[in-house]
Amino acid sequence: MHKNTDINNSINVNDISCQMYQLVSDMYPICRSITGDGLRKTLNIIKQHIPLDIHDIPTGTQVFDWTIPKEWNIRDAFIKNSQGEKIINFHQSNLHIVNYSINIHEKMLLEDLKAHLYTLHDQPDWIPYRTSYYKENWGFCLSHNQLLELKDEEYEVCIDSSLENGCLTYGEYYIRGEKTDEIIISCHTCHPSLCNDNLSGIALATFLAKHLSEISPSYSYRFLFIPGTIGSITWLALNEANVDKIKHGLVVTCVGDPGKSHYKKSRRGNAEIDKAVTHVLKSSGQDYEIMEFSPYGYDERQFCSPGFNLPVGCFMRSPHGTYPQYHTSADNLELVQPQYLADSLSKILSVLDIIENNKKYLNQNPKCEPQLGKRGLYSAIGGQTDTKKSEMAMLWVLNLSDGNHTLLEISEESGIEFDVINKTADTLLQFNLLKEC
Ligand code: ZN
Repeated sequence: MHKNTDINNSINVNDISCQMYQLVSDMYPICRSITGDGLRKTLNIIKQHIPLDIHDIPTGTQVFDWTIPKEWNIRDAFIKNSQGEKIINFHQSNLHIVNYSINIHEKMLLEDLKAHLYTLHDQPDWIPYRTSYYKENWGFCLSHNQLLELKDEEYEVCIDSSLENGCLTYGEYYIRGEKTDEIIISCHTCHPSLCNDNLSGIALATFLAKHLSEISPSYSYRFLFIPGTIGSITWLALNEANVDKIKHGLVVTCVGDPGKSHYKKSRRGNAEIDKAVTHVLKSSGQDYEIMEFSPYGYDERQFCSPGFNLPVGCFMRSPHGTYPQYHTSADNLELVQPQYLADSLSKILSVLDIIENNKKYLNQNPKCEPQLGKRGLYSAIGGQTDTKKSEMAMLWVLNLSDGNHTLLEISEESGIEFDVINKTADTLLQFNLLKEC
């Protein structure tokens, strides 16, 4: 007997929106990176919500063409002027430090210091976010206005950091469904105090995982909380033998800002996940944009590398690099808002609802229409105000259930919402007019 997996059942997205926002706030102050204590601390906060498995992969481990880097940790960083006043203080904003800066404690003149200072000319009040993971370097980020105020004098520059053999840490949460086929949901966990790029995706993934663990999905789900690029490369290298189980996937990022929804298709371009997300965005009644795959962006780059070519797309609101606050101190708790997190979560739930229920059926009475009236089927679908639509849905489902059309295709063809088509198929199944392929 067909079992309808109702992903949207018993979830109040608006209640969860406040919890997602609270989680973003809890994680916001932490100085994360691709390795180190900030990343671990973040994973431990997520673990308070879902039973995350935390993996530590040692420095030096070869993962395809890459090597797990040394672990970076930072305790303090500042620049003092000649009066001994701290004019830049890491503890005021962790964006002040170029992420992965090596240890330094020196006095130097402004002209020498300037080679290590990064600002945004166009956004003179914001601090940029910069990294130097794979080249040993150091630097400070500050607002352009602050740079303009610096006097030509000697400064004391201190970065109390360490770059040593350690681990790359990532979190994984597996939810066993009825079948071993998997859906992966991946988000990056390596950015410091940036809310939309990074924290919004983590918060959404955490509460999505929590919800799915409370229902009984048909698919198994694997949630990855990984540092960008090196994290997905590491996970793929360690789990290569099992990637065949991945049937659908989404990278989730930048899901808390007011921008319209964007979806970047998988490399395949016509995977079921691509069709499901497109359908949901098209049916939302809101503005949206579908982007073709390109080999730049987030971890879909690795999942969609030619050796894997997994059906993994990227769901976001404003894409990276397209909103002014991107990779700056203005990507903060004001940019991300609960209602946008809620809207993103509700769209992803609708996508998963389609994937969970998108089956093909065979009409058991294919020669001419079955007589629906004598089975009482015109009134058998309860709770629907639009009878005409439910009748049309029956006719469409019966006609296109030839073993070649999925319910999503029937929904597209008929222009009737997926949810109605799905419930109609359930009813027809109960009356033995359909059989699952
Ligand atoms: Zn980023």
